[in-house]
Amino acid sequence: MTTVRRHSPVEIVTIGAGMTASILAARVLPETGHRMVSIEQGPAQWTYPDFAHNHDSLRYSQRFAMMQDLSKLSWTWRPNASAPALPMRQYGSFHPGQGLGGSLVHWTGLTWRFLPTDFKYRSHHVERYGADRIPAEMTVRDWPVDYAELEPYYDAFEYDIGVSGLAGNLGGRILPGGNPFEGPRQRPYPNPPMADSAFGKLFGQACSERDLHPFPTPSGLLSRGWTDPYGNVRAGCLYCGFCTRFGCEVGAKASPLTTWLPVALATDRYEVRTRCHVVRIDTATDGRATGVTYVDAQGGEHFQPAEVVIASAYSLENVRNLLLARSDKHPQGIGNDRGLVGRNYTYQLEQTPVKGLWENTRFNFFMGNGCTVPQIYDYNGDVFDHSDLDFVGGAALFAEAGQRDPVTSVGTLLEDLTDRQWGAEWKAMLGRSWDSVGGINTEGESPAYTGNFCDLDPTYTDAWGLPLLRITFDWMENERRMYRFLAARCVEIMRAMRPDRMAVQPELPPYRIDEYQSTHATGGAIMGTDPGNSVTNSYGQVWDTPNVFVTGAALFPQNPGANPSGTVGALAIRTAETLRDRYFSAPGELLT
Ligand SMILES: Cc1cc2nc3c(=O)[nH]c(=O)nc-3n(C[C@H](O)[C@H](O)[C@H](O)COP(=O)(O)OP(=O)(O)OC[C@H]3O[C@@H](n4cnc5c(N)ncnc54)[C@H](O)[C@@H]3O)c2cc1C
Ligand code: SF4
Repeated sequence: MTTVRRHSPVEIVTIGAGMTASILAARVLPETGHRMVSIEQGPAQWTYPDFAHNHDSLRYSQRFAMMQDLSKLSWTWRPNASAPALPMRQYGSFHPGQGLGGSLVHWTGLTWRFLPTDFKYRSHHVERYGADRIPAEMTVRDWPVDYAELEPYYDAFEYDIGVSGLAGNLGGRILPGGNPFEGPRQRPYPNPPMADSAFGKLFGQACSERDLHPFPTPSGLLSRGWTDPYGNVRAGCLYCGFCTRFGCEVGAKASPLTTWLPVALATDRYEVRTRCHVVRIDTATDGRATGVTYVDAQGGEHFQPAEVVIASAYSLENVRNLLLARSDKHPQGIGNDRGLVGRNYTYQLEQTPVKGLWENTRFNFFMGNGCTVPQIYDYNGDVFDHSDLDFVGGAALFAEAGQRDPVTSVGTLLEDLTDRQWGAEWKAMLGRSWDSVGGINTEGESPAYTGNFCDLDPTYTDAWGLPLLRITFDWMENERRMYRFLAARCVEIMRAMRPDRMAVQPELPPYRIDEYQSTHATGGAIMGTDPGNSVTNSYGQVWDTPNVFVTGAALFPQNPGANPSGTVGALAIRTAETLRDRYFSAPGELLT
């Protein structure tokens, strides 16, 4: 018989020690006497010594040293409910991380606020274009919070991590050089923008010539040395070129390791148990969560009792953990009494519609990082008039950034720029041109649909015998039309950049799980105004189990045209402050 080791109870237990769990620890513990434990499946890791001299593309970019181990846990995918679902056996579409700090340790750093209209998605579109504009199968919603309510939390997140950028809208005043379409912010970014790359400058000039509005990428990488509000001293970026998928060797890239974990651990009331995998959220006969069961690296089983359980295991695993928590009171899983867990699964339309080749020009693409380029918002959200268009939505457009490495770039670099992708001629061209090719990218919206959802796979299981999460997802007609429009805008900008050759992808290809696009899997446990339209309230508190909270992008009703972590961080700070200041005075009650 297996003996389950029962640990001392704590106020809060989190599944994972990633970005949102660390925010909670740093924001709740210092000002309370509470104790918190995070159960993290990956290893302990710190800037020093783990990330010293780690410029090993093969290990980090090709063999995904910082990602979850797919031989133990993966996801299955099918394009629609009639197709068979198969597991992702090699990393493709997304790269969820593991280990202390979670995915933010190896992120790219683009740190956005969503547009004010993103939070009023359905009502805004109905008001401006009429109810017919939103197709019946598109289940987009308004968020239960608006931009004004979230602004102080965006501000707090940006100052926690030291975002480098240029404000475009300070208290309603539009400032030159920043993003003129952003919502009003209460103060400037804490740090000036990052350096602009040579290719970024070319893109920026072409946009300005076309009366578009380029502005520097808001970056979670520091443009200069900086001391954060907690007293952590951090170095400025070296533009080393080994950024996405790597830990930063100098701590210039914001992560839980540089920012929240040191503060939380200093309280002595926070413990992270690494190499331990949560297999179950446990519940009592009344349906309330009692804690989590996990398995350690030696196979030993443990139970960690807690007053509050936080599902903070990244969006996909949050959805799975809720669905797996089945009991008499929750026959379909926690939060799923109305069958809404897994609904409104969305993604990010990240594509490169056009590439150019500038013969005999070198851009030094091997240096820099993902934030050394300008962006434009002229075609994002509902910034542009959609009256005569046949779709909703848009995307941020931006120039390809640096950090090109020989191991990962070879495969697709010259695609459609040469007749074939093999042979002596191709090799010679690659040698000549690898640093002379650059593209324009989209960071596009992903609306929610009835046909795109997640549930438990009936066939495939993880290393602990539990069903994998099955993702049913493909792009729909609205996105194909949106992409066509955006691709044409990218081509106009590329022409103004005057390349010698150009390769265009005019149509959106079907979604594929074997091709990296972004780690922006969102939705599946969405927040809303009542249990009939959502899994949680605006604090991430699960309607049918109020001592379980969800953090992360699973809460998004749909995904706007921007990377998620700025909003994920703002929402996590809001949840943390609510837990700290309000929840424990009436534990187990729904917050309003
Ligand atoms: C390559 C890459 C680039 C990115 N770039 C950007 C960007 O430029 N801008 C942006 O806004 N966002 C970016 N992101 C997304 C960003 O990293 C996430 O939004 C953010 O980390 C989510 O925080 P989280 O707390 O929800 O999850 P995470 O930070 O991923 O933390 C989840 C943790 O839970 C652990 N876990 C999962 N299941 C279990 C279990 N059963 N038991 C124990 N532990 C478990 C995992 O190991 C992990 O450590 C990027 C992500 C990746 C991977
Ligand atoms: S590019 Fe800058 S932030 Fe990124 S890993 Fe290198 S030094 Fe760190």
